Amino acid sequence: MTKFTDLNLNAKVLKAVVEAGYESPTPIQAGAIPPALEGRDVLGIAQTGTGKTASFTLPMLSLLARGRARARMPRSLVLCPTRELAAQVAENFDTYSKHLKLTKALLIGGVSFKEQDKLIDKGVDVLIATPGRLLDHFERGKLILSDVKVMVVDEADRMLDMGFIPDIERIFGLTPFTRQTLFFSATMAPEIERITNTFLSNPERIEVARQATTSENITQGVVMFKASRKDREATEKRKLLRMLIDAEGDKCTNAIIFCNRKMDVDTVAKSLKKYGYDAAPIHGDLDQSQRTKTLDGFRAGELRFLIASDVAARGLDVPSVSHVFNFDVPSHAEDYVHRIGRTGRAGRDGKAIMICVPRDEKNLEDVERLVQKPIPRFDNPLGDAAPAQEEAKAEAPAKSDDKPKRTRSRSRKSDTPRAEKAAEDKPNVEAAKPEPKQEAKPEPVEQPAEVEKTEAAPAQDEQKSNRGGRDDKKSRGGRGRNDKRGGNDNRVVGLGDHTPDFIGLSFRERI
Ligand code: AMP
Repeated sequence: MTKFTDLNLNAKVLKAVVEAGYESPTPIQAGAIPPALEGRDVLGIAQTGTGKTASFTLPMLSLLARGRARARMPRSLVLCPTRELAAQVAENFDTYSKHLKLTKALLIGGVSFKEQDKLIDKGVDVLIATPGRLLDHFERGKLILSDVKVMVVDEADRMLDMGFIPDIERIFGLTPFTRQTLFFSATMAPEIERITNTFLSNPERIEVARQATTSENITQGVVMFKASRKDREATEKRKLLRMLIDAEGDKCTNAIIFCNRKMDVDTVAKSLKKYGYDAAPIHGDLDQSQRTKTLDGFRAGELRFLIASDVAARGLDVPSVSHVFNFDVPSHAEDYVHRIGRTGRAGRDGKAIMICVPRDEKNLEDVERLVQKPIPRFDNPLGDAAPAQEEAKAEAPAKSDDKPKRTRSRSRKSDTPRAEKAAEDKPNVEAAKPEPKQEAKPEPVEQPAEVEKTEAAPAQDEQKSNRGGRDDKKSRGGRGRNDKRGGNDNRVVGLGDHTPDFIGLSFRERI
């Protein structure tokens, strides 16, 4: 078996690896490090959890150990699809470079340009960035990429999903032709193949086995759920989630709960919190300090439930997660693999429980086809019969989150990459349909305002137009406060957009 000492790493890097407690290189490390150290291009087909970050970080640090960066001219560049992933890569660099005198900068949205500019001005050896933010700096004339010797593209398949490929191509064009490229992707879609054929030169291709989705130590199950009434689906689904969590008892030490849509991430988190669960959301609209705080809390075991979107949670490394709950069946079957891979790590036992509503059955079939076996059906603790109306009424406190307050979506002014937002918002087609109007008026109840900030679910065609990446500001602006398709149709002719909410309510509802 290959040992780290066989790999020709810089002695100071090797020392840091030993201190990290790693005994031997993982297959992607054993395969990628030697050619990378020889200066060759590498095409790594591997997903998170395989040790791929160290497979590019360790040789890069060894190569950069000699030499110094000049002002505004980074010597190496790592591109990541999300801020979290970029931050995680930066942590890896800190760990492995602790005995070297190298400088790095992290260029991600949600952090002021000023601080980042200062670092770049001083000169950095390693620049870790999301593509949008990197190009923003470049366009401001603050960054020169002509001294980049090594460029890494991490999670290229997710970059594709998020519409970042045009940005990546542009960045490739801004770096010297002679640069070394280390390119990582979990899958090789035709578009990714095209990019690698265009920008990589005779790469060493290393492919490591797919993460075993049906790994013995992860117990999987799906609960088939049909609401008693369409307009109660959201409320009853959250109740079902609480029952599923409760049924796990103390075995559920912590869990990541995945939702397909950012809006639901917020709603589920708020609802759980209201019912006394220790829960917090993470998605692209939250500011960076909030996201970091939530993640740190979850990693440290201070937060029990992390409610997440696929994009925000992608690639996150939390070693010990007892449960994964899929509040929705993911609309991309591949995401199921990534989601449940958050639990059962390092040989520990894990459990992955999913809720499937009738319209998600097609997605469930896709997941089962991908993992090549049926996911066992778990009993529905709500029972097969539709819950009685009384039960739904008892749930009334959560009612407000069925009708989120419409906001002006000003959250968009945050500099989350637009494509990241688009990817996080991506609803499945059915889910984007407006809820039917309530058949009967609910009893007036005091409703805690559960949802403070949500976005209207974008229409499907709008989503498509968003796949172009950063230059799609206009196309995103279409569904704002004037949108009437979402069901909140209380406007009064003549009052324009400024109709106070209570105007459309009956006097009984205003109490
Ligand atoms: P990654 O695939 O880069 O997200 O890495 C997944 C996890 O594996 C991280 O927690 C790393 O610290 C850990 N790791 C990376 N390389 C090794 C190794 N050679 N031995 C043990 N753990 C490792």
